[in-house]
Amino acid sequence: MTQTDYSRFNCGPSHAPAVLEVDLGAIAENFRTLSELSGVNACAAVIKANGYGLGAAPVARKLYETGCRVFFTAQLSEAIAVREELVENDAEIGVLNGWSLEDDNAYETHRLFPVLNTLDQVQAWHESGSMPADGKGAAIQVDTGMTRLGLPQGDVAALVRKAASAPPYRFLISHMASADTPSAQQNIKQRQEFEEFRALIPHQRAMLAASSASFLGPEWRFDMLRVGVALFGGRPVADKPNPLRPVVALKARILQVQSVEPGKTVGYGASYTVERPSVIATVGVGYADGYHRALSNRAEALLHGERINLVGRVSMDLLTFDVTDAPNAKAGDWVSLINETISIDELADHAGTIGYEILTSLGPRYRRIYLG
Ligand SMILES: *Cc1c(COP(=O)(O)O)cnc(C)c1O
Repeated sequence: MTQTDYSRFNCGPSHAPAVLEVDLGAIAENFRTLSELSGVNACAAVIKANGYGLGAAPVARKLYETGCRVFFTAQLSEAIAVREELVENDAEIGVLNGWSLEDDNAYETHRLFPVLNTLDQVQAWHESGSMPADGKGAAIQVDTGMTRLGLPQGDVAALVRKAASAPPYRFLISHMASADTPSAQQNIKQRQEFEEFRALIPHQRAMLAASSASFLGPEWRFDMLRVGVALFGGRPVADKPNPLRPVVALKARILQVQSVEPGKTVGYGASYTVERPSVIATVGVGYADGYHRALSNRAEALLHGERINLVGRVSMDLLTFDVTDAPNAKAGDWVSLINETISIDELADHAGTIGYEILTSLGPRYRRIYLG
């Protein structure tokens, strides 16, 4: 097999002050880890929101080459974009957010399948005579406790009547609400409800677990996993060590270094006061790049391998770090904002959010480099 040149996906401004490296090899390794965990070597990849901000096309290409054959996006336009990269017939590409008559024959044209979420969608889909070109039909989602998308239990009887003459659904899916908290009672309740749906609705493959639920135990794994954030190195369970490999590295050059006397303040709102003779380094990344303003006075980074503190507010395009204890910091040096030590989850914890939001916020001003 020929080696794919992933550098064709490199993008972003060539004079960018910061570089985002996406380690596709780590994504492949995470996919293998999760496939093994599934017990039957079956794992679908969720690459909605531009592959969790990392680039749906390179991620899809790498996963396909690693053996992944089932992909989900949230929206139809995202799925069409994935299909443009994954022209291979055996790549199944589904749209989680449902189907509408207005989508016309886009599913057929681009060889996609919808996830039907309501009785109305089921009815309209069957009446339209639509069928993905691979003949495997639509997937169906049932609601077991998210109260978001999917058929409620009260509609099952009607569905079974409607679907009687239809071929079995390609996938029967549901989504877990509290899987990142293994002790949550809701996890068991949702699994039991899913079992009930499973007995009633004809389907080819059943899938319940996303990243977190994949680690709840074999009872949640059914025929296939359906994972997103874990592929991208996100922590599946809050208070356990993360078994996945980090995928993203972000580094930016120091633009300016200055010595500062005690009593001076740093940044907007003078939220940080220097207490000892200090050296402050300024870096060209800000909240416009997805480095959340909530990280002000909280985050840490690495300079020459040593931790340094973010001081003062995060502004739109700039960050300020106390580099007093990192000798010889000078303009042009690289500050590492996300790396093997400082994870997306560490940043998320400091910002009061989740790793998912750190990833999907990563902005367009970085030079993006894909490592195979
Ligand atoms: C986003 C999503 C997933 C993937 O979730 P992760 O927690 O990122 O693994 C799976 N299923 C559905 C329905 C989703 O919306």
